[in-house]
Amino acid sequence: METYSLLRVIGEGSFGRALLVQCKSSQEKYVVKEIQLPKNRSKLENSRREAILLSRMKHPNIVAFREAFEADDLLCIVMEYCNGGDLLQRIRQQKTTQFCVDDILRWFAQMCAGAKHIHDKRVLHRDLKSKNIFLTDNGTIKLGDFGSACILNSSKAYAHTYVGTPYYVAPEIWDNKPYNNKSDVWSLGCVLYELCTLRHPFQASSWKSLILKVCRGTYPPLPKHLPYELQYLVKQMFKTNPKDRPSLQTILTSHRVSKLLRSHF
Ligand code: ADP
Ligand code: MG
Repeated sequence: METYSLLRVIGEGSFGRALLVQCKSSQEKYVVKEIQLPKNRSKLENSRREAILLSRMKHPNIVAFREAFEADDLLCIVMEYCNGGDLLQRIRQQKTTQFCVDDILRWFAQMCAGAKHIHDKRVLHRDLKSKNIFLTDNGTIKLGDFGSACILNSSKAYAHTYVGTPYYVAPEIWDNKPYNNKSDVWSLGCVLYELCTLRHPFQASSWKSLILKVCRGTYPPLPKHLPYELQYLVKQMFKTNPKDRPSLQTILTSHRVSKLLRSHF
């Protein structure tokens, strides 16, 4: 940490802290995510996976990895600082004013591009939600928080115990099926819906009724003024059978949707 000076704490979570730091030589700002390393050997690998998987990504819509190091019982991941905060904060700032279609589509297209890169690298993110999607000051989307990510088809994909917010979890996960690339698509569908309405698509006062809504795929309709293609897209992304859900490749290239997205890039 001698390379960096601490500016302030910007996030605090189950893992530890996210710190805003400044490189002493270049004056460049970065975020250091501090992760408490467990004593247990197998859990140690889990913690290191986040840094390893993030370091494999290289895309304009994914938080750029700089370096990682271990000091005492802390793993520090140094990454690009996204000074526009996270998308959940941005949604909350809106209060009741809806986002314009241009912003929704531009952000969504960027999210899909970032997530497609993750899938192309044979990695699943597994925790896509507005709080894990960051913004730069010029409004570019950066996917972050690879703390739940895993390699596609690894046996560990089954062993995902969910600890965070349940709103974005796909029906197959509640059904104890393995996490797959389409489960990430479901979560992005939830974020798209959130951008369109400022609300979660699946909300309930108890876990039981939330899971029921998710597994039936029933959600309040989108506002009528939104383009038909957007309504269609949300419907496709919320197909309860993952096989019926489009892949990111399909979303970004299929005729109807890609035309809409391209015109807003
Ligand atoms: P956790 O595993 O606890 O969810 P995150 O990586 O999501 O950790 O970081 C927690 C919070 O810190 C994020 O929701 C975001 O508000 C902030 N944060 C983390 N990394 C960055 C970054 N690179 N740029 C800007 N803010 C960040
Ligand atoms: Mg997070």
